[in-house]
Amino acid sequence: MISKISHLGIAVKDLKSAAETYRKLLQSEPSEMEFVAEQKVNVVKFKIGESTIELLEGTSPDSPISKFIEKRGEGIHHIAYESDDVRTDLKRLDENGFELINKEPRTGSDNMLIAFVNPKSVGSVLTEICQH
Ligand code: ZN
Repeated sequence: MISKISHLGIAVKDLKSAAETYRKLLQSEPSEMEFVAEQKVNVVKFKIGESTIELLEGTSPDSPISKFIEKRGEGIHHIAYESDDVRTDLKRLDENGFELINKEPRTGSDNMLIAFVNPKSVGSVLTEICQH
């Protein structure tokens, strides 16, 4: 079951400078930078109450984040919903005609289980289902 918004992912060109902007904006300190090899991204997170802002920087031109920025520029990349059972939610979405990018969850940052739903199925919004 989906219970809340987990985080928003924001694609940035320069993680250092974006982290500085968000540090000032939110008056809070970012997490340590984390490299997610599978996605070829560097990630920095800001906790705000129960939610998180995730800043994502591609580390190579073939990173999904680099490709996104090339096509659409910097900005909101995805919205992530917290699930208590990502496999059950994926099955439910699949049965309801959503096109899944990941039929099986994989490991994202912070060892979360994550899976993406194709933006084509959700009004052009890349949607992530995640489970801590
Ligand atoms: Zn995410």
